[in-house]
Amino acid sequence: MLIHRGYRYRIYPNSQQAILFAMFFGCCRFVYNYFLALRQKVYASERRNMSQYECMRLVTELKRDKDHLWLTGCDSMALQEAIKDLNKAFVNFFEKRAGYPRFHKKHYAQSYRTRNQGHSVRIEGNYVIIPKVGAVKARISRLPQGRILNATITRTATGKYFVSLCVEEELVPKPNNGGVVGIDLGISDFYADSNGHSVPNPRALRLHEKKLRREQRRLSRMIESNITGYCKGPKGGRVPVYKKPLSECQNIQKQRLKVALVHEKVVNIRTDMQHKISTRLVSENQVIAVESLNVRGMVRNHKLAKAISDVSWGRFLSTLEYKAFEHGSDVLKVDTFFPSSQLCSECGYQNAKVKNLGVRKWVCPKCGAVHDRDVNAAKNILSKALGTVGHTGTGH
Ligand SMILES: [Zn+2]
Repeated sequence: MLIHRGYRYRIYPNSQQAILFAMFFGCCRFVYNYFLALRQKVYASERRNMSQYECMRLVTELKRDKDHLWLTGCDSMALQEAIKDLNKAFVNFFEKRAGYPRFHKKHYAQSYRTRNQGHSVRIEGNYVIIPKVGAVKARISRLPQGRILNATITRTATGKYFVSLCVEEELVPKPNNGGVVGIDLGISDFYADSNGHSVPNPRALRLHEKKLRREQRRLSRMIESNITGYCKGPKGGRVPVYKKPLSECQNIQKQRLKVALVHEKVVNIRTDMQHKISTRLVSENQVIAVESLNVRGMVRNHKLAKAISDVSWGRFLSTLEYKAFEHGSDVLKVDTFFPSSQLCSECGYQNAKVKNLGVRKWVCPKCGAVHDRDVNAAKNILSKALGTVGHTGTGH
């Protein structure tokens, strides 16, 4: 069975190559925005949706136009991929999976995608070959084991470059040890499991998160002190008036970079931890029961918002699911409204006092079992997933 797998490498373009990347980012953004505007115009005047192929034909014409000759310097496959992305955004909108497509702005993460045609994208030693750019120095960790389909080049807010290769590979099934576990993704800990283990968030993560909040506060104070007043915006809202445009404020730009660097660090620590934990879970267990939390609904609850976004459950679960697929393990999801923390995992008694998040340990008033809040919840998640909840005396 063939699967698609991503390989991401840090790349180090020389100054010439960095100029080309900047130009390609700009061309792709231009094409995306140009056709978004054109599709809007055509829809308004002719009541029809332009197809992807119509746009692709037009981009060829556009390149011959004397005002758009600069587009000919760009990787033409990258322009086609930008049109595909726009089309995808429209399809998602029509099928009610997303809002109406928006214009891409320059300060968004910069990236473009190109296809591999007849080995135009490949790895040679410590270099990645990228169409129209050439050999870009890279830090290659593990080599792809199949056919490279496409490459996405990204420049982060902190000025680092990465290439992500999408590779078609034969699925090599990996073993698991046949265990069964329930996990409760937590607030004070990253998670607790039904075997009584809890995994704390790394200390480095907490420290950097604290630093991130501090630097963000500093940044917003700097921006505030640059505001002279407010005026009415085009949509009626209040729009701040600045003493000096933010792009010209050296100190604010410096602080922005600082925030981006700390943010990058936090994301890296988190991703690293999530990979380690998910690999361990899928190699040890055949069944992993988790709560399918309605993250969006919970983030609105401000008290929990920070903790939830911190542990970034959604991303962890998707990492867990794709690894489970490779190891032949099952991730079972238990629905959101199940009161997993309040039920005694021994006798099924529902203790409303446990609703309070401050209660970490409790004794069941009915059977006297002593519970750690999160471990008990994890046990309930497991038995609910296995369909045995409500049966008294589980485990006897
Ligand atoms: Zn009990």
